[in-house]
Amino acid sequence: IPRKRFGQNFLTDDTVLYNIIRVIDPQPKDTMVEIGPGLAAMTRLLLEGVEQMHVVELDRDLVERLKKNFDSKRLIIHSADALQFDFSCIPVPAGSKLRVVGNLPYNISSPLLFHLAEMAPHVQDQHFMLQKEVVERMVAEPGSKTYGRLSVMLQWRYHMELMFVVPPTAFDPPPRVDSAIVRMIPLPNPLPCDQAKLEQVVLKAFSQRRKVIRNCLSGMFTESDLLEASVDPQARPEIIPLEQYVALANRL
Ligand code: SAM
Repeated sequence: IPRKRFGQNFLTDDTVLYNIIRVIDPQPKDTMVEIGPGLAAMTRLLLEGVEQMHVVELDRDLVERLKKNFDSKRLIIHSADALQFDFSCIPVPAGSKLRVVGNLPYNISSPLLFHLAEMAPHVQDQHFMLQKEVVERMVAEPGSKTYGRLSVMLQWRYHMELMFVVPPTAFDPPPRVDSAIVRMIPLPNPLPCDQAKLEQVVLKAFSQRRKVIRNCLSGMFTESDLLEASVDPQARPEIIPLEQYVALANRL
């Protein structure tokens, strides 16, 4: 029985599963980690492509099931909360990086994305099933209605692409919203900046989307700080590009 508090919506549509695996394109030597394997619908298919993989699952009953159904040499099971899990404990051969995948529990998607962001330099790519509306916010450009904190914080670190949309009927039980697969590739050279400072500026800026940036950030920056960071004091937070937020964070 799926548990609502663990965000359990199990994928049951074979075409969707096949399309996800095709987009991930697993290779034998990959160091793959899946978050929330659940009943192993994706895991089983991924294991056809990789020699070995890791999974992180919170639900102990599901962990027991996985232990029974898979060879422990090929599937390494971490019975843990992905939000607390130290992904750097997964051994990665020299010269290669981690590949992270998952049909994520939607109730923890933002904190999980931020937790993983700290691992970005050690990650090859991430492929996630998320609420479609969340993916739209992740990839939104300045000037669009959905551009906000998630867009700026994640675009600073990743190149991101919405791969395809998945309808509620692909899951059991069906979620109330559309879902989408997103590909995230860490940028080789993100603009130098302190994540905590950027977060501080962006959080304050977008807490009052309707105000102009000078008012949103009053107390944090003077008008001349804004001008020196090439920010128009009269602009609204949702049209200010990433580079200008970074320039501001670097003045904190
Ligand atoms: N991958 C499976 C599939 O596609 O059918 C299950 C996806 S289901 C949306 C989310 C999975 O994440 C469930 O197995 C759930 O138990 C697990 N989960 C929920 N919260 C978690 C957490 N904090 N850490 C790790 N796994 C979690």
